[in-house]
Amino acid sequence: MIIGSGPAGYMAGVYTSRADLKPLLVEGMQQGGQLTITNEVENFPGFPGGAGGQVIMDKLREQALALGVEMIARSVVEVDFSKRPFRCRLDDGEDVVAETVIVATGASARWLKLPGEDEYRGFGVSTCATCDGNFFRKKTTAVIGGGDTALEDAIYLSNLCEKVYIVHRRDTFRGTMALQKVVKSTSNIQILWNSIPLEIEGEKQGFMKKVTALKVQNTVSGEESRIAVDGVFEAIGVVPATELFVNQLDMNEQGYIITKPDSTATSVEGVFAAGDVQDPVFRQAVIAAGTGSMAGIECARFLLEN
Ligand code: NAP
Repeated sequence: MIIGSGPAGYMAGVYTSRADLKPLLVEGMQQGGQLTITNEVENFPGFPGGAGGQVIMDKLREQALALGVEMIARSVVEVDFSKRPFRCRLDDGEDVVAETVIVATGASARWLKLPGEDEYRGFGVSTCATCDGNFFRKKTTAVIGGGDTALEDAIYLSNLCEKVYIVHRRDTFRGTMALQKVVKSTSNIQILWNSIPLEIEGEKQGFMKKVTALKVQNTVSGEESRIAVDGVFEAIGVVPATELFVNQLDMNEQGYIITKPDSTATSVEGVFAAGDVQDPVFRQAVIAAGTGSMAGIECARFLLEN
């Protein structure tokens, strides 16, 4: 069984299917994973000139299907890795028994937990510019963060919004130089360096709510200010989707599954982990695809030896 349908899951499918292992791939809630909410991807192999994340994932899925991977549009809600074969319960209550499992559940956006965030989530507060940017045409938005996601989100929003602020806590970006150059040369993007967000403010009228401002603090001067915005996009990194595997697989203190060096083997023999769920360092789609392939190969070797 393969749990997860990002680049790691689909490539694990390709390799296990070609090894005749009859993989069942459980696709989860977000078929195609994080890349499907990425507008433009320039650094995935085989797509000169770049392509939309959804396009890339559709192609990977098609490739896995063509090689005979069985896929189901369900989620795994419980696993028992205490003995082989492993038992995984699906969200419709069905139990699936598998000789080996490849965990490829990826990661999801991290939230800042700011005052006002919960109240205005879905009413102007979001972690997905590609999904929600359209609601902010000709408006003003703020993107929080300084990594690749924040820079890509700001560029995407700058084509829709009148003005985009980037609120970043340091005075240099973490994101790729190519994106930094675009951000710095885009006239309707304003960067607020050394700035941390303090609170999201808004207005309520009956059932209607909307964001009106973001309160920020300059970390050098200590000065607090309020910028008028209609939307706030948080792009402060990701958390691995590993809740399902607590007390089943060894994890580090950030919740990433620990794999053996040069391997995708986890602390349980016969369970492998691939992609962002076990990668706190690189977190790239191409690397997820690569570790998915590794997991497929290791699965086949494990079954041969056992
Ligand atoms: P990231 O690289 O971890 O960057 C997170 C950003 O948020 C950092 O700038 C960080 O500031 C800031 N931040 C974190 N916690 C914060 C807090 N509590 N308050 C304020 N700011 C905070 O995350 P990401 O941008 O989502 O990228 C995740 C991974 O996906 C990366 O490996 C990235 O390269 C990859 N990615 C790649 C592409 C691409 O290649 N096309 C696109 C998107 C993402 P500091 O810089 O001060 O730590």
